[in-house]
Amino acid sequence: MRVIGLLGGMSWESSAEYYRLLNEGVRERLGGLHSARLVLASVDFAEVEALQVAGDWEAAGRLLAAEAAGLEAAGADLLLICTNTMHKVADQVEAGIGIPLLHLADATAAAVRAAGVSRVGLLGTAFTMEQDFYTGRLAGHGLDVLVPDRAGQELVHRVIYDELCRGVVRDESRAAYQRVIGDLADRGAEGVVLGCTEIELLIGAAEVDLPVFPTTRLHVEAALAAALG
Ligand code: GLU
Repeated sequence: MRVIGLLGGMSWESSAEYYRLLNEGVRERLGGLHSARLVLASVDFAEVEALQVAGDWEAAGRLLAAEAAGLEAAGADLLLICTNTMHKVADQVEAGIGIPLLHLADATAAAVRAAGVSRVGLLGTAFTMEQDFYTGRLAGHGLDVLVPDRAGQELVHRVIYDELCRGVVRDESRAAYQRVIGDLADRGAEGVVLGCTEIELLIGAAEVDLPVFPTTRLHVEAALAAALG
């Protein structure tokens, strides 16, 4: 079993899901007392969020690249950045390591295409929905990406930072997300990418009429395939 390096803490609410899902996945596949071999670097999300708000992606990239190098030195054979948003600096992180980075957008796009979906809605932070680093990567896999209107984007972003990253899960926010997804469906979305690793704490396939692509779970599946061969 290869050692999985997790670059987490962004927020730790979703990193805890990665840890649980990876271990459950190894137990399902190998049985008995088997569990995932992994090393975790968990940053202080307040520092990262301040750099996001300041638009200082260079400094954020330096911070994450240093953590990634530490994971490689600690024995990681492959690396996961446990947030969609911080894939904004994936190139900077990748440049400083000699182990493969499993890009979250690639794992997601592969699942969307395998489901036969080509026009997909995307929920995530404002950075992920607005900027090209993520939508462009999905488009590079042949997907047509739809994002919510301005009000929908603001709502989805606010719930992530003010609630989900703080461990707050509210029924009203789930209903609001359902309305945003309904709007995307009306505009032609055939499926929806939950493109923020905390969104699965709020909503999933059972609460959505469209096919759902949950990025934490998809990233974990890709990591298990790479680690277990
Ligand atoms: N975990 C979230 C994501 O997947 C948002 C928090 C962050 O900015 O990293 O984008």
